[in-house]
Parts: sequence; structure tokens; C-alpha cells
Amino acid sequence: MFAVTILGNNSALPMHDRHPTAQVVYYDEHLFLVDCGEGTQIQMNRYKIRRNRIRYIFISHLHGDHYFGLPGLLTSYGLNGRTEDLWIFSPPLLRDIIEIQLTASDTVLPYAIHFVAIEKEGILVDEKKITVSCFAVNHRIPCWGFMFKEKEKPLKLDAEKLRQYAIPSSFYLRLKTGEDYITKDGEIVKNEWLTRPVEPGGSYAYCADTVYDESIADKCKTADLLYHEATYLDDQKEKAASRMHSTSGQAAAIALKANAGKLLIGHFSSRYETLDDFVTEARAVFPNTDLAIEGATYIIHK
Ligand SMILES: [Zn+2]
Repeated sequence: MFAVTILGNNSALPMHDRHPTAQVVYYDEHLFLVDCGEGTQIQMNRYKIRRNRIRYIFISHLHGDHYFGLPGLLTSYGLNGRTEDLWIFSPPLLRDIIEIQLTASDTVLPYAIHFVAIEKEGILVDEKKITVSCFAVNHRIPCWGFMFKEKEKPLKLDAEKLRQYAIPSSFYLRLKTGEDYITKDGEIVKNEWLTRPVEPGGSYAYCADTVYDESIADKCKTADLLYHEATYLDDQKEKAASRMHSTSGQAAAIALKANAGKLLIGHFSSRYETLDDFVTEARAVFPNTDLAIEGATYIIHK
């Protein structure tokens, strides 16, 4: 399964039973935590997230609504006896913040944390079937979006055709990488005669807090699922710009420009008690839009 579960969909304040930003991305046996606002581990309990399977945590920026839940989570891992290493990708200062908290409380964690400072765009995690990379978004302090990209699968072999052309099994692996087969008589058996076309891999783009910036669309081109913040409704464009945030219509314009498969909007301002207007405004520009609802899981790619 390649999917994302929303744990927090609100902006700065926890209000209206909504929580600051946190999401869990699933890919096969991997669980990735994206941002960790206050209350994240409480939300993990509520939605039965298997937190011990998380190896990689990505923090977009150092506004509190995106990482104030982290000290609690790291401490709980220790109390629960975690021994597996943990990687935290974030702007550089997070390491100092966490280390001073651990020092002040004389806490020695039973597991290792590898802090990886994000300072430029590029690949952060390269696993067998998936990569995670970061791209800059445009906020009041350095802020990063994250792209989860499934690697292209090897070609599938067509058993009947393999028999028909008498291809030796020792050559199967090379067929999967796209090679043609050459018979003893020097005849070429084209790879496409022997294999089935594979679907391209899926991708999830997480655009953290950002002002409307069209260059972001280029960085998330053709994402199957695009998450974009929509802190305000469209009548608050000026306020959004002055706070370096986006509106629902602006999030939808980015999805349209990026030719995304589907748009998910979140990071709603606490000034809004209900969210219906967000999705109405966004769908007027990009019909395949959903609200990021806490506890809901959205399929990225089947
Ligand atoms: Zn925020």
C-alpha cells in the first residue's frame, strides 16, 4: 500500500478538535512521519499508528506547529525501549533544540538518532523501492516540501511468449531490465515481445507551509497525490500573502499547474470552525480535491 494518513490538519493552534500538522506515509513495510506537531503521539494512539515501524522523520520547518510533538515522541520511544536507529531530516537547528532538551532532563535514549540537516534540494532517502527527496517551498523561515516517489518496477515477463521463443531462464533477469535476447543464430528477440508494460510508479508531494509560488508546481509535476497547504479561504488572499501562506484557490491552482492526479488541502486556520468552503473553492479550480481529514487515509497509488 502507498498511502498517507492525516494526524493533524490545522495550522498554528489546536482548535475545533483539529491538531497541528502531522502525517504518516505508508509504503509496503515502511512508515514515514512527516511533521510532528503538538499532540502527534496522542493522535498516533487514537488512530492506531504502528509508530515503532517509523525509521525516518521529516520536519519541514521549525515553526512549532510542525515539530512541538517531537520531544514527547522521542522520549516515549525511549521509555518503550526502542533500540532501532532513527533518522530525522530537518533544518539544522533542530538538532540543538532536541539535544538541549535531552541534556536538561539528563535523558539518555536507548536508541541512536541520526540528525540530517537539510540545506539543499535533493534525495534524502533511497530505499529499494522508494525515494524521498526534498524541495524548497516559500515561507517566512527556511521550509521544505517532501516528494515520495516509488521507483519504476522491473518489467513483468510473459510466460507464454518465453516458451514460444524458447528463452533460457538464465536470461530472465536481464529481460526484466529491458534487454533484448539474441538467439544462437543471431536473431534478435525484442524485449517488448517478451514482457508486459509496467505501470509507472506512484508519487506523493507534500508541500508544507508556503506562500503561493508557481515554481512549486514544477517541483511536484504529475504527482499522483499532491498535498498543499490552504490556511485561508480566497477572500483572505492579502492576509495569506502577508503571512506567507496560501488560500484554497491558490492550492488548487498549483495542483492544476502541476497536473496532479488529486489534491489534498490542509493546515486550516483556527479562525474557521467548518471546512466546507475550502473544498468548494478548491474544486472550482481543481475538481479532484479533498480536505485532509484527521484519521482518514488517502491512497497515493495502487
Ligand atoms: Zn504551520
